[in-house]
Amino acid sequence: METERLVPFALPRYAEDALRILEGAGHEAWVVGGFVRDAIMRRPCADIDIASSAPWQEVQRLFEDAGWRTRETGCKHGTITVIREHDAIEVTTFRCDGAYLDARHPDEVTFVRSIEEDLARRDFTMNALAYHPERGLLDPYGGLGDIEAGTIRTVGEADKRFSEDALRMLRGCRFASELDFSIEPETFAAMVRNKGLLGRIAVERVRAELDRLLVGPAAGRVLVDACDAIAAVLPEVVAMKGFEQHTPYHIYDVLEHTARAIDGTAPRLRVRWATLLHDMGKPATFFRDENGRGHFYGHPAVSVAIGRGLLERMLFSSADRDRILALVRWHDDVVPPTPRSVKRLLRRLDGDVELFCDLCELKRGDARGQAPEFSAERIALADALEATLADVLASDEAFSLKQLAVGGSDVLAAGIPQGPAVGSVLEDALQAVIDGEVANDRDALLDFVHRWRDQAYSHKFSEQ
Ligand code: ATP
Ligand code: MG
Repeated sequence: METERLVPFALPRYAEDALRILEGAGHEAWVVGGFVRDAIMRRPCADIDIASSAPWQEVQRLFEDAGWRTRETGCKHGTITVIREHDAIEVTTFRCDGAYLDARHPDEVTFVRSIEEDLARRDFTMNALAYHPERGLLDPYGGLGDIEAGTIRTVGEADKRFSEDALRMLRGCRFASELDFSIEPETFAAMVRNKGLLGRIAVERVRAELDRLLVGPAAGRVLVDACDAIAAVLPEVVAMKGFEQHTPYHIYDVLEHTARAIDGTAPRLRVRWATLLHDMGKPATFFRDENGRGHFYGHPAVSVAIGRGLLERMLFSSADRDRILALVRWHDDVVPPTPRSVKRLLRRLDGDVELFCDLCELKRGDARGQAPEFSAERIALADALEATLADVLASDEAFSLKQLAVGGSDVLAAGIPQGPAVGSVLEDALQAVIDGEVANDRDALLDFVHRWRDQAYSHKFSEQ
């Protein structure tokens, strides 16, 4: 067996102990997959996988005898989780996967004798590595070289590997973003040829990969580079690709702008999804005026409409969906950094301070994706908005109904009947407080409520 020695990396103590338990009983065992890849790249890696020649029942017995706990997490596929204190390792028997009839799950797995055969079933060369503290690195597919070159390449023929399991295509795009790698051209061409199979993948899995792709350090670049593959799960991006904007504010097409905006935001999931969606309505609202200049009036509302369908399809909770769409809805509004405007905006965002900060982040990202001569000013404006927000919060000024010095029972006591009028008077009172017309104090507000009631009733009477 050929192995390469490289600068040894430290395995955590519990992983070395686990290898020893298996080998002490005469089995062969290796650390495999993502942990090896991440260790070579000096990235932190949460989970450790071990591949071994032992059947899972034997693994269970050995570890329980050694005082570990075990959990039967995937026995059908030869996997068992072994746990010592807070550390868990998945131990899987060397296996290869049988035929795939549904483009996702092998219909049967076959246990095999060698680690090399086991590595052959793995998705990408960088993930088909095995490591042992004494025997070194086992790298039959050139994974180390691909990691050094930053290349994502399938193990074996790409068309075959993607048609066996379509999720691998999204895993490939997600890894490209997380690791800032490029997808090798033949591997990418096969993604484009096989992307139609992505429709068979459970939406939850698609969503999980897209979430990770979007918060990766190269999310924007991958969105552009892999657009023709990702389009199968995000068809909304197709209209953005190559859509020139014809305005002095923009030097990139809508997709490239969106990509730069994404990379220009902090890697927060909600902000990243909102940024992906924010200009989806541009192609539909585009027109050119008599000077040839492009306009997109009303595009945020169309982005919201498109985004709503996308987020529903991706199974976002309605609360998450509403917050993401609020960011899309308000991303283009010019808000002066004054306390009054900040409070008005906060009110529109239901007093959600975190969402307000997300909106500022989206605005900064949006600015970073625009023509450079306009960016600085717009970034400064978003910064100023956040600074004013801090002042508003520190001064304890009211911006939501909760903070108002009167509530629903006061309104009812003033003789306003139960029903929509109660909400209306409170909203109007809050608006008056934000606008500085009424103080947020109980007597002043009760007076406001009485005046509101009298006006509403006199209006009713005059109508009759
Ligand atoms: P991460 O944990 O960061 O997602 P990972 O490479 O550890 O990266 P896992 O999903 O934990 O990914 O899988 C562990 C290993 O199992 C992978 O490194 C790869 O060798 C193999 N693997 C996982 N999913 C697939 C798949 N769909 N097809 C082929 N091999 C896979
Ligand atoms: Mg892993």
